[in-house]
Amino acid sequence: MTEYRTIAAARDALRRGEVTAVELAEDYIARVEGADALGAFVHKTPEIAREQAARADQRLRSGDAPDLCGIPVGVKDLFCTRGVPSQAASKILEGFRPEYESTVTEKLFAEGAVMLGKLNMDEFAMGSSTETSTYGDAVNPWRRGNDEAKLTPGGSSGGSAAAVSADLCLGALGTDTGGSIRQPAAFTGITGLKPTYGRVSRWGIIAFASSLDQAGPMARDVRDCAIMLQAMAGHDAKDSTSAELDVPDFEAMLDGDIRGKVIGIPREYHMDGMPEEIEAIWAEGRAMMEAAGATLRDISLPHTKYALPAYYVIAPAEASSNLARYDGVRYGRRARIGQGDGITEMYERTRAEGFGDEVQRRVMIGTYVLSAGFYDAYYNRARKVRTLIKRDFEQVFADGVDAILTPATPSAAFGLGEMAEADPVQMYLNDVFTVTVNLAGLPGISVPAGTDRQGLPLGLQLIGKPWEEGALLNTAYALEREAGFVAKPAKWW
Ligand code: GLN
Repeated sequence: MTEYRTIAAARDALRRGEVTAVELAEDYIARVEGADALGAFVHKTPEIAREQAARADQRLRSGDAPDLCGIPVGVKDLFCTRGVPSQAASKILEGFRPEYESTVTEKLFAEGAVMLGKLNMDEFAMGSSTETSTYGDAVNPWRRGNDEAKLTPGGSSGGSAAAVSADLCLGALGTDTGGSIRQPAAFTGITGLKPTYGRVSRWGIIAFASSLDQAGPMARDVRDCAIMLQAMAGHDAKDSTSAELDVPDFEAMLDGDIRGKVIGIPREYHMDGMPEEIEAIWAEGRAMMEAAGATLRDISLPHTKYALPAYYVIAPAEASSNLARYDGVRYGRRARIGQGDGITEMYERTRAEGFGDEVQRRVMIGTYVLSAGFYDAYYNRARKVRTLIKRDFEQVFADGVDAILTPATPSAAFGLGEMAEADPVQMYLNDVFTVTVNLAGLPGISVPAGTDRQGLPLGLQLIGKPWEEGALLNTAYALEREAGFVAKPAKWW
């Protein structure tokens, strides 16, 4: 069977009748079946895929086929999918099969997308390596040269990244609270977009930090992200923070013409001790932007250095509140209790057994920074810093900057176990280039731009103006064309 590596190519082939949705689904079901070594899919749904594909073929035959009709996709385990396990990779949600469908998956299915299964992630989306998952690690399809050491696909949407990178699905849903779409995309040589906060409904997505969480597409290239975002975006009465704005035709905005656009290069993103290869790819990215006709401008985002500490106060604070609902009563797993134990013991034991270490750490930090004595010192101060960070971006956009170019991550993919053994702050440092975007509610995209000396992919991040995902995608499209990234991982799984 012909291999269609992008959603756009598969869509066009389906519409021309070169392949059927059922044939495509069978091909991908077999790929998923053969890739257990990657730990990407944690609940496979071949039956659902076959049924959806058969219905997609009917629509294709009748000529009424939206872009995603018949396209095999994977869904991060954070999305509630009706009747299908949705556990946020946590033990505490063992056995939970939602009675309802998240808005985003509902929209995708309404377009005729075909779900292959649920994808691995860090527990409750807390992490940068998919090592906190109750299902075990997801593995990056890429390796360092001939070295067989297993690398992380990043996190928290590591399963989504591994699956797209290894061609186990054509597109995947991710979520991004502090970088969880962009960092794994960069680690696996794929493209990932975090939309403007409010562009995509959060309804039915298991909450981590509600003021930062945003779902987005992870796919092979910029065009595929545009196609997926089109299907995902839009106002939803069930999410009061979703914006009542029209959704433009994102794919139609891709012409790659960025002549005269001003690309900001923030001086504060030159971090001490940043690997040479990251500096080098960033410099190459600047040259690519210039080659595409854009003008570079040095800019300052002075509050950048406070972003990581502010994020690691705000995100745990919201998480501690969101996760209070997991009490062993309403859904999920309940711990066994001994005779004479009461409800307090039941809560305590359920939460101690059900939550992993990182989640417990976040709940404790969050509870601490929200406690009466420390609220002003931590939480309120972090909120003020957040406002200043947002203002930094508003200022540069008001001064005529169209988009901002930064590295996506401070390193290439690291080895499984390498970081988890260090102290947690080492892991948190992964988010240094991405959290500002969530704190400011902006759209950001990671584009594969090259490889390091060991052949691992490196990503660049572009940050856009709020609600202007179309312009951001087009700038990313220009970068993608200049970068010409075509490398793919050698199949070993
Ligand atoms: N790595 C960050 C964290 O652990 C971001 C996670 C995310 O975006 N979901 O909080």
